[in-house]
Amino acid sequence: MPFVYKSIVAVLFICSNFTVGAMPLNDSLVLQNMDHELNQQPWQTYQKIQSQADKLADATPDYKLWWLLRKAQAENLLDLFDEFQQTVTTAQALVNEKTPDRIAIHFNIFYGIILQRQGKYQKARSLLKQTQQAAITHKYTDLAVHAKLELAFTRSLTEHYEYSLTGLQQAYVEAYALDNDFLVARINEVYGDIYGYLNEYGQSIEYYQKALTSYQQLAYPVHVAEALYGLAVTYRYWQKYDLALNYYHRYQKVIEYSLNNIEGNFYGLYGISMSLAGKGDCTQALDYIEQTLSIKGLIDYKAELYKRQALCFIDKNKLHLATIALDNAATIFANMPELIGTRWQIEVIEIRAQLQQAKGNNEQAYQLLKQFNQRKVALLKKNTSDRLLRVRGVLEAERQNVENSLLQQRAKVHELQLAQQKQDNTIQNYIISCIVILILFSLIFMYFQWRNNQILLTLSIRDPLTNLYNRRYILEFLNTLVNETNLEKNQVSIMLIDIDDFKPINDLYKHAFGDQVISKVASIGKDTIRSEDVIGRVGGEQFLCVLPRIDSIQCLNIAQRLVKKVHGYEFYVGKGSHKQLVKLTVSIGISTTSVDTINSSDLYLQADKALHNAKTSGKNRALQY
Ligand code: GH3
Ligand code: MG
Repeated sequence: MPFVYKSIVAVLFICSNFTVGAMPLNDSLVLQNMDHELNQQPWQTYQKIQSQADKLADATPDYKLWWLLRKAQAENLLDLFDEFQQTVTTAQALVNEKTPDRIAIHFNIFYGIILQRQGKYQKARSLLKQTQQAAITHKYTDLAVHAKLELAFTRSLTEHYEYSLTGLQQAYVEAYALDNDFLVARINEVYGDIYGYLNEYGQSIEYYQKALTSYQQLAYPVHVAEALYGLAVTYRYWQKYDLALNYYHRYQKVIEYSLNNIEGNFYGLYGISMSLAGKGDCTQALDYIEQTLSIKGLIDYKAELYKRQALCFIDKNKLHLATIALDNAATIFANMPELIGTRWQIEVIEIRAQLQQAKGNNEQAYQLLKQFNQRKVALLKKNTSDRLLRVRGVLEAERQNVENSLLQQRAKVHELQLAQQKQDNTIQNYIISCIVILILFSLIFMYFQWRNNQILLTLSIRDPLTNLYNRRYILEFLNTLVNETNLEKNQVSIMLIDIDDFKPINDLYKHAFGDQVISKVASIGKDTIRSEDVIGRVGGEQFLCVLPRIDSIQCLNIAQRLVKKVHGYEFYVGKGSHKQLVKLTVSIGISTTSVDTINSSDLYLQADKALHNAKTSGKNRALQY
């Protein structure tokens, strides 16, 4: 029996809970990208498309065509053949020279499928060939492949296997190069069909299995059902009827949830009828055949059913019913001239011979059988011609080669991608390292900058010899403190310290020793005061000490302690046996703020006067102003 095909299935999956709805379809891009979704959820997507029908009135012509295209595609998938045909016809009327090529080409492929289903094989072939050419010209490789595979299938229906396989081979190579798993699967499926027709069942099963695996991976239910159906048909051809029945039942299960499963059901029932009859179970087969013939289905399938029915009736010796059944089959073939001479049609002659024999008309039976055998031999010759065999051998080898070389290319591309990625990573690492180094340098630079600033700041406020505050800073500090202190509540005292008779030290022991003395007196001074008191060097051997919140008595105590400390300290000059003890004293002038103190300069002058008094009254002492 012919035509195992695409159109076989009516799978309207509603098993999953779908929502029809408010999906935005307002721009044709959504429609253009709907392919995958449509194949995965044909029924839901079909509902979605239809729900937008009322919005078409204001749509652009392109949008309308895209909408019709997806609608047709869904209808084709769902085996809504009448609707499919109607949609394609509507669209064809809207196509004009302004229509984008892609759309026009797509609709021509659809129209080719319609012609092929109507049995207008010649017309279908020429349209598909033309369309394939147009797709190539416009560089729509996927559509070209699509047209090619439809053309190959159409050719196989009229047993032009050689052309069919050649075209399919090209399509396969192109689909493989496109990396389009779906197209490759569809081509494998058509290979399965053709090898089935050529009675190469093992190979047919192999191709269908490949297609089935891909469809399952893609989760395209309609196509899964198709591949299952193909497997069932091939097993039936192979006369492995139990396996065939098994696959037909699997197919029926897949389409179980179909809303409109009349046609899908037809194909399932058809397969089961034919398998049972093939198995020799005519009692069950006749029931199934009757049931199948009563529902809508493709006419040439019905011819096959009538043939089987006739055989079963002969088996049951119901020769009158057998004659009617066979006449029905013959009438169908008579209306499909392109099928004349095919094995489907010549089987009618064979069955007629059996019928005549059953009726006892041996001479007639013999003539018919002879006729049948002649045609069968011619057919076998055609199908096993040297050329066909050669072409097939070459094609298989070529296919293998192409597959291998493409695999190598893919591996190479993958390798290059990895290398590129590696390079990218290296560059990225390099950039990151640069940034890190840059940041590090900036931080180091900023640190040095900060340190320099610190040094500069220190230099600007510190005396380098003693590391005490310098004159400018200590006087400023005093000034600020006096200004900010509430003099009614708190007092500020200052001590002006001067080394006694320092000039002779310099003269006697050299300037460097003088420096050491200044430093030592500075550190004794610093050790004597509190941490909040501040001391600075205001002249050569003169220091100012500022003591916040210290009254005059407290200050005098501190000053006397300092005088005593310096007086008790033993300075040494020289080394070894030349080492010599030097004793020194300091004089200190003290002044303390009162509520009448006007400013820090006054306070300083007072301390200076007190210091002068200390000097003139014998040195080595502290005096208050
Ligand atoms: P008096 O007891 O009255 O204070 O007498 P004096 O000798 O200490 O006072 P005078 O002002 O006559 O001498 C101070 C000397 O200090 C003069 C100067 O050479 C010396 N001098 C100033 N600055 C420095 C310095 O930084 N280092 C050294 N070694 N000597 C300095
Ligand atoms: Mg002095």
